[in-house]
Amino acid sequence: MKFHITTFGCQMNVHDSEWLTRALESRGWEVAGEDEAQIYIVNTCSVRDKPEQKVYSELGRIAAHLKRDENIFAAVGGCVAQQIGRGFFERFPFVKLVFGSDGIANAPNALERIVEGNEERVALLDFVSIYEEREQPEERTVTVPETRQAFVNIMQGCDNFCSYCIVPYTRGRQKSRHHDAILDECRALVESGVREITLLGQNVNSFGMDKSGSGVSFAELLHSVAAIEGLDRLRFTTSHPKDIAPEVIAAFGELENLCPSLHLPMQAGSDSVLKAMKRRYTIEKYLGIVDALKTARPDISLTTDLIVGFPGETEEDFAQTLEMVERVGFESSFSFKYSDRPGVAAVNMEPKVEAKEASERLMRLQTLQNNITRNSLKNLVGRETDVFIEGMSRKQFGDNLWWKGRDPAGRIVNVEMVERDGLVGKMVRARIIEAKNHSLLGERIGKPW
Ligand code: SAM
Ligand code: SF4
Repeated sequence: MKFHITTFGCQMNVHDSEWLTRALESRGWEVAGEDEAQIYIVNTCSVRDKPEQKVYSELGRIAAHLKRDENIFAAVGGCVAQQIGRGFFERFPFVKLVFGSDGIANAPNALERIVEGNEERVALLDFVSIYEEREQPEERTVTVPETRQAFVNIMQGCDNFCSYCIVPYTRGRQKSRHHDAILDECRALVESGVREITLLGQNVNSFGMDKSGSGVSFAELLHSVAAIEGLDRLRFTTSHPKDIAPEVIAAFGELENLCPSLHLPMQAGSDSVLKAMKRRYTIEKYLGIVDALKTARPDISLTTDLIVGFPGETEEDFAQTLEMVERVGFESSFSFKYSDRPGVAAVNMEPKVEAKEASERLMRLQTLQNNITRNSLKNLVGRETDVFIEGMSRKQFGDNLWWKGRDPAGRIVNVEMVERDGLVGKMVRARIIEAKNHSLLGERIGKPW
C-alpha cells in the first residue's frame, strides 16, 4: 500500500507522524507522493487559530483524488480527530479511520484491517498508554536521519490545565514513559550514529511525577541520557517554569553535552494575567529561575512562548510583558494572539481583548523581540563555536557553498565551505563573522569531524 502523511502542529505531531511512517513501512507499505497515494493520513493540531477549517480544506483537496481511484481513503489523527471524532465519518465518507494522539499506537493495525476489508470504519479515541503498543519489537527499530539528530518522546499528555489550553483535553492526562525504555531507545539511536537527541514532552519537568512514573526524576533521566557515550548534544522541550527542579537547573552546569539553551514559556509578564492563565508561578519566581540558570550556565540562551490579548489583559499588563521580555533578554520567542478554544476555562473569561488591539500588541511585541534578537546575535560576532551541519543553506553567494547548521545553543549558523557534499551530520569549528536578523554567518576554522 502507498500512503501519504500531512502533518500540522508541534514537534510532538511531527514525531508521531515519523513513528507512524516507520510502523507502516515495517509492514511493507510505502511512502508516496500526493498524486500516487492510496491512503491519505492527516495528523492534526488544534492548539490555535481555526484548526478544523484547515483540516476540512485538506480533506477537500484529498477528495479530488477519488476521481483517480475510488478506493482511495483517508485517516484523520491528532487533536482535531480527538475532538470531532466520528463526526468526520458523516461529513467525509472517504474518511475510514479517526485516531486521537493516544489512538495512534493502534492506527497501523486498524489501517491494515480496513485495507483487508475486515473493518469498514474505525475510531480510536480512548486515552490509553501508547508505550506498550509502540514498543513492540518490530516497531522499535530506529532509523537514523542523515542529519544524525533524533527526537525521543518521554511522556504523553498534560495535567496542567492552563486556562487557555486545549492540550489536556485532546492529549489526555500525563503518562510518563518508563525510563528504561527511554534509555534503550536513546542508546540504540546513538549506537546507530545519532549525535544529538531532543527529549520531548508537554511538561518534561514533571516527568516521573504521575501514576506511570517509575520514581526516576527528570534530572536523573537527563544525567543517564547525557552519560551515553558518543552523544554530542542533548536538548529537551517543553519546560514548565512551575516544575523546574533545582537539579535540572544545576544539570546545565554539570553536563557538558547538555546544550546551553532552554525554551521556558513565560506566556505573560503580569502576575494577574499569569494567575488567570492558571500558570501557577509569579514573575518573581520566573526571574529567580532565570538568575539560577544564568549562574549555572552563563552562556545559556533563553527562548519563550508568549500570548497577547488574554481575556482581561490591560495595556498595563501588556507593558509588563514587554518589560519582562527586555529584562530577561530572550533570544527569540514564539508569540501568539490568544484564541478561544472549545471547552477551556478562558472561554468564559471577560472582557475579551478586541482583535485589532491584540494584533497591535502582537506587532509591538514582535518588533521589540526582533531588536533584542538582532542585538544578541551581534554580540556573538568574533566568537568561535561548533556548528552541527544540517544541510545546504537556502541562500548561496560566491564560488564556495554555504552550509547551514546550528551552534550548541540552537542558533542557525551558515558557514562557507569548499566541500560540495558529505558534510551533513558533521561538526565544524567556525568563527562568527556577521550577524543577520535571525541567523549568523561563520567562517570555518578547522576540519569537519
Ligand atoms: N506545554 C507547553 C508549555 O506549557 O509551555 C506548551 C504547549 S502549547 C502546545 C504551545 C504554545 O501554544 C503555548 O506555550 C502557548 O503559548 C500557545 N497556546 C496554547 N493555547 C493557546 C491559545 N488558546 N491561544 C493562543 N496561544 C495558545
Ligand atoms: Fe497546555 Fe499548559 Fe499543558 Fe502546556 S502546560 S500543554 S500550555 S495545559
